[in-house]
Amino acid sequence: MARAVKARLQQISERVWVYGHDPARLEPAVGLVLTGEGWIVVDSGNSPTHGLRVFEACQTIKERPVRYVINTHRHFDHVFGNQAFRGATIIASRRCQERFARNLKDDWAPERVQRWLREAVLSKVPTLDPDDFERLRPVPPALGFEGEMTLELGEVPLKLFPLAGAHSDDSIGVYLPRERVLILSDALYFHEGPEARFLKLLRLLDYLAPLEVDVYVPGHEAPHGRATFEALRAYVRELAHGVKALLRRGASERDVLDALPFDKRYEGVSFLSPRLHRRLVQAAYRELSLWH
Ligand SMILES: [Zn+2]
Repeated sequence: MARAVKARLQQISERVWVYGHDPARLEPAVGLVLTGEGWIVVDSGNSPTHGLRVFEACQTIKERPVRYVINTHRHFDHVFGNQAFRGATIIASRRCQERFARNLKDDWAPERVQRWLREAVLSKVPTLDPDDFERLRPVPPALGFEGEMTLELGEVPLKLFPLAGAHSDDSIGVYLPRERVLILSDALYFHEGPEARFLKLLRLLDYLAPLEVDVYVPGHEAPHGRATFEALRAYVRELAHGVKALLRRGASERDVLDALPFDKRYEGVSFLSPRLHRRLVQAAYRELSLWH
């Protein structure tokens, strides 16, 4: 166990480690911040067992209490490990807190959550181990914040700020200015649904660009540097310009899809793929055509 835990740990700055993601088990990356007064954990894992492994990972590095857990958004794979961090204060955006509370009265109610898990998760991801979710009891964030929040513990400042709109409406980012680390979680993963917006993704990338960051930590891939972030931004900007130019000439959605095939230069940049490209072109067309 201990060796497996260690193998997934990656130190990305003086005080920050990442407990790496595992796509087979739908386990997102978790950020671990070591301060003079204990640990701050960013996201808690997708199950009680994952949460316990994250806790163990911290203790392998340094035996200190976990003081805070930050939930970047309410998707189950980022919050179902909360119960493993007894004694820690769980922090999230107010909206995440509200959504969580609503889920607890519905799908995540104690008598319903196992059924929800079976129907909505385990049946769709057969590689998940049902044992990891035994004794699951979703623990909601105790502390919700509106807008931005600065958290300082043991002389390590963290800035928490909204990154909503491209993935979910309650997403936040966690920025450690002294470490030059930005924990993005899923915020830039375009999620097709009523909450997702192509133009939001464009704005989020422009908004994040001036931050001084050496390491970005996305939710479901390895941490990456500035070059990947800039490539992703260039891709999204090019797509927006391309769609706008075609709209000015009265192109239909079909014309736009034909005229803007996936540029192979961007293959493998973060989450980009030909399939996602198609969805992004369609979203860009629909949203930008409102302005033309
Ligand atoms: Zn998510």
